[in-house]
Amino acid sequence: MRRLVVATLLTMLALSGCAQVAESCDERAPALGDEGKADGPAGVDVLAMLAPGEGREATVTGARDQLGYVLYAEAGTEVKLEVTHRGSSRGFDSYLQLRGPRRADDGDYPEVLATDDDAGYGQLSRLTATVPEAGFYLAQVSVDEEARAAFTEARFRLLLTCEGSRCDADGPIAPMGDDVHWVRNAAEYRALSIQAYRTATAQIEAMHAAGELPPSWTVTFDADETLISNAQHERERQELGLGYSARAWSVWVNRREATAIPGAAAFTARIHELGGHVAVVTNRKAADCDATLDNLRTVGIAPDGILCRVGTSNKTTRWQMVEDGRAGDIPPTTLVMWVGDNIHDFQAMGQEVRHEDESALEAFGSRFIIIPNPMYGSWARNERL
Ligand SMILES: [Mg+2]
Repeated sequence: MRRLVVATLLTMLALSGCAQVAESCDERAPALGDEGKADGPAGVDVLAMLAPGEGREATVTGARDQLGYVLYAEAGTEVKLEVTHRGSSRGFDSYLQLRGPRRADDGDYPEVLATDDDAGYGQLSRLTATVPEAGFYLAQVSVDEEARAAFTEARFRLLLTCEGSRCDADGPIAPMGDDVHWVRNAAEYRALSIQAYRTATAQIEAMHAAGELPPSWTVTFDADETLISNAQHERERQELGLGYSARAWSVWVNRREATAIPGAAAFTARIHELGGHVAVVTNRKAADCDATLDNLRTVGIAPDGILCRVGTSNKTTRWQMVEDGRAGDIPPTTLVMWVGDNIHDFQAMGQEVRHEDESALEAFGSRFIIIPNPMYGSWARNERL
């Protein structure tokens, strides 16, 4: 674990700036203009949906932060919201608002239904309100205005309970797109992922049987949509009608609820059985690297080294670091295979190969193994012909 942290720090020293043009550089292409803000009322970071009985945790990092959660409630539902402390964040003076219903034409929540400052424990907030009509409502947590001068940072939990009728997070604000539907619900997606990982396994087993693997060998993987699936986050985003938000993404990452891509865990276990190493080179940011490692381990994937993004999203330097023995517990090694969902997960590859002769793609199916991802990627910015 400590060595993994060291590897991250080394990445920090080794990398700076984006080596490619911004257009092609970012693996997670934001669907909309991204300044870390999601759609919703001006200045509010809408982070996630809120379901009854399910607490959401987040960190307020700025005195003027306004963090939002969306819930769906039917007419006459009594909605109760409570903010509690998490960790050592005692002394947090919160301010809580319930706004809505969400207006269909612009997605705003102009009506303030209820507000509270200190009705909860200490200076924390708690409120109860009966919603007038079925719709989406926004629970908004911020720092109380008078406490802003002394505020530094606070971690909190927001809990929703509903009485008298029903509320949930499943009201259809926007239909699920075919892309997310396919990843979540299609037999074809599952079969394709398993097929890709079986191809990978057969390739490595053949190299092993032929004595072609070097003494120290490593397979390098991307994380998102390669080893773990974020289709749940994409679903929540679509249902909320939200664009990509770096803040909401980080909250999702720290929930550690990404699921294993079919076939991924078995392949990484086979690599270990055959004496190889598993490296993960991901463009998740360094601050989220520990949560990423936790999530991977939870779904049965045990990387020997992980390098998150510090500077550039271009992975070439980090692949070299893996080869040099500067990633976790992996000694100096040879990369024998790349696995990813984005063309930039493969050495010397880019979107331009779509125009080239098939021979430009000859490594796919042998050294390069690609996992399907119709939800996002560098492809999304290609011209629509
Ligand atoms: Mg990916």
